[in-house]
Formats: sequence, structure tokens, C-alpha cells
Amino acid sequence: MKLDGNLLNNVKGFLDSQEGQGLYDIALEASRLGPCLEVGSYCGKSTLYLATACKENNSILFSIDHHRGSEEQQPGELYFDPELFDPETGQVDTLKEFRKTIKTAGLENTVVPMVCESEVAARLWATPLGLVFIDGGHTYESAFKDYNSWVGHIIPNGYLLIHDIFKDPQMGGQAPYHVYRLAVSSGLFKELPMIKSLGVLKRHDCRDVHQYLP
Ligand code: MG
Repeated sequence: MKLDGNLLNNVKGFLDSQEGQGLYDIALEASRLGPCLEVGSYCGKSTLYLATACKENNSILFSIDHHRGSEEQQPGELYFDPELFDPETGQVDTLKEFRKTIKTAGLENTVVPMVCESEVAARLWATPLGLVFIDGGHTYESAFKDYNSWVGHIIPNGYLLIHDIFKDPQMGGQAPYHVYRLAVSSGLFKELPMIKSLGVLKRHDCRDVHQYLP
């Protein structure tokens, strides 16, 4: 594996290394099926894991983030980081850090950054995807929009990964888990073992479909 441990330690982010390793392993399989896409790249920690795997298969990672920080990262909120605040614009700005991360890792020819809301990126999207990783806003509205925007683009045998799944409300917000349950109840996916708080769903092969018909 060609992940750079030093670099990973120096990138800001909320991804556990075991979850990151899971992203890498799954992306290594999924990027053979089609390009991968992540929603919520922040400073690029998850991007490093996913894109390093994509690069090994000469694939592409589309990486979506408006880079203005999610709801809980705004000034005064729990996950606000003053180092990521741009006084000139009076807004959080994670794009500069993100660009630095992918340049340092040599991933500029693998990652396609998309600086916008994920539902805008999805509006005219037509490329089938081998993997979608959802780790954007954690309100019900944001999590649902991200799910709804991308779930239809995942190809058979492709993966839907959702970060911050907490079945116990004491452990964390419930919006990602709510979306995870929606995906499971759609009947489109097989539930695979979670990796810490990373939910792993694999889209059924078309050939399996008779099992799910009434
Ligand atoms: Mg997360």
C-alpha cells in the first residue's frame, strides 16, 4: 500500500485510521468498476485514502465540497477551527488546505475537485460510479440531499459508504444513520460489516435481483 502515514497525520480531519484503511481497501476494488466520488472532503484526509486506491487503478476520484465548512464547523460551533477561517471573506475556507493535501500527495491527476453543493454537481450527472462516500453535512436535510443526489448513480457491485453511523444516539447525531437505514430499506444494497462508524453497503448484482422481487 502506498499511503503516506506522515502526510495522513498532518492533514486535519475526523477520519479514524482504521476507517481510512477501510476506505482504501474498498476503493481499490470499486475503482476497477468505475470512478469513485466523495461528498465532504474537508481538508482531504479521506481523499488521500480513496484517491491513493483510485490511482493504483488509473481511475478518478471526484471530490465534492463547497469548502465553506459544514453546519457544525461554523464559528461558535463545536467543530469550528480558527485556522480554517478566512478573515478576508469572513467565512470558513478549507479549499486551500485541500489543494495542499492533494498536491503534496501527488494526487492532482487523480482527484477532480468539485467546489459546489453536492446537489448542484448531481443535477446533470450522468457517469456511473463504482463507489460513493457520503461525509458531508450532518443535518437530516444535508444527509438526505447527498444520499438522494448520488444513490442512483452507483453501479451493480458498487459501494455506498456513509461516515458517522451511530446506532446509539448517545454516541453521535442520527442523520447519517437515518440515511443508512433508508439505503438498506431500498432493497438495493447488501449490508456489510461496519468499520467503526463507517457504514458499508454493496449494491446487489443485477443477476441477484430475482431474490428481492415479491
Ligand atoms: Mg465524518
